[in-house]
Amino acid sequence: MTIAPPASDVRAAASVDRSIRLITKGASGGETCSPELAKGPWEFDRGPAGYGPGSSMGDVIPTGSPRQGALPEAYRTASDAELHDRILAAKATLGDRVVVLGHFYQRDEVIEHADFVGDSFQLANAALTRPDAEAIVFCGVHFMAETADLLSTPDQAVILPNLAAGCSMADMADESSVEECWEQLESVYGDLAAVDADGRVPVIPVTYMNSSAALKGFVGRNGGIVCTSSNAKTVLEWAFERGQRVLFFPDQHLGRNTAKAMGVPLEQMPMWNPRKPLGGNTADELEDARVILWHGFCSVHKRFTVDQIAAARETHPGVQVIVHPECPMPVVDAADAAGSTDFIVKAIQAAPAGSTFAIGTEINLVQRLAAEYPQHTIFCLDPVVCPCSTMYRIHPGYLAWVLEELVAGRVVNRITVPEAVADPARLALERMLAAKPPAAVVGAASTGA
Ligand code: SF4
Repeated sequence: MTIAPPASDVRAAASVDRSIRLITKGASGGETCSPELAKGPWEFDRGPAGYGPGSSMGDVIPTGSPRQGALPEAYRTASDAELHDRILAAKATLGDRVVVLGHFYQRDEVIEHADFVGDSFQLANAALTRPDAEAIVFCGVHFMAETADLLSTPDQAVILPNLAAGCSMADMADESSVEECWEQLESVYGDLAAVDADGRVPVIPVTYMNSSAALKGFVGRNGGIVCTSSNAKTVLEWAFERGQRVLFFPDQHLGRNTAKAMGVPLEQMPMWNPRKPLGGNTADELEDARVILWHGFCSVHKRFTVDQIAAARETHPGVQVIVHPECPMPVVDAADAAGSTDFIVKAIQAAPAGSTFAIGTEINLVQRLAAEYPQHTIFCLDPVVCPCSTMYRIHPGYLAWVLEELVAGRVVNRITVPEAVADPARLALERMLAAKPPAAVVGAASTGA
């Protein structure tokens, strides 16, 4: 189930923006990974292409990634209070014509205006409850807006407030590299549509929800399926019934952590490096493979370490460490539990008062949980404040802009998936829904990102 926006009295404590401003002014202790996070994200719209400050700032952005045009000055110079009032006024004018979705990892200054808060798949499903809304404003990242477009009606416009809000992990597997991989696998396995004595094809492609619509379309065309971080095991079981092995992209860690928990030996999980022939493997290694892991990762979850867990256990005896399965395997192994954002939220909700949690996921969600559940002690495993670079690109200034444009009768920043891609992508999503218990699909599924 999606979550209501937080009450106003917890927002100040939950604000990562506020934490960063205090740190950069020297008004509080602590450390941030980039003082540039204190600037408005529009400062990075006109500069060289890049993900911007935050966890992905060291990642290489693909050529041709969407850029955001200049945000009008009125929104860049408005105070926080003015933007807040303008968003409220625009939403009041639009009424039921618009629905605003806020991902768990968004800043609180955006979340307070969301009609629904959740992970990407929860939000896409939440939008289905508002079929009369003409516009769906998705405060998240690009692949999430694409998924909402796939699931919404053709008359609904899905809007991403800042086009530069991509995802560095999703960008690590592009369609041409995956097609090339597929051809190379065919050179090893032969006809990829041929079935063995058990009725299984040589390889089933599985893409994480955190991937472009083009990749969802690729797996749909090739007998494959989409997974989320909460249903990855169910989806892998589905794939192993139909294939001798799985090609899993883009997140190596979710693939490895899930397959390892299912008993797949690590030596049967080779990595596919798209820059090397056969992904850097021998044909024999690929023959033995059960899960071929794409060389992708989330730069937010890669920050968490076993040393951080050891430090948390030392300073907070009895602490429960819960991490996201996009974290590296040693971190998941050292934690008390691993699960999607939905899993993390529910674990905290269910805990007796006075519990202590060290959480390994994006800082905006962790600070919000800490503010919403003051009966617990909740802190982020990583002591350095370093939000997701691309979630950070959505700011109330952009939200006010897209909403006021709607009031003026103009749709800006619309995300549309071409039908040729949308049809097979929906097929891959439908396979995932069919592989899940129906009761867990609407509003309760979790992608974890
Ligand atoms: S936190 Fe989510 S949106 Fe940000 S880089 Fe990781 S997978 Fe992408």
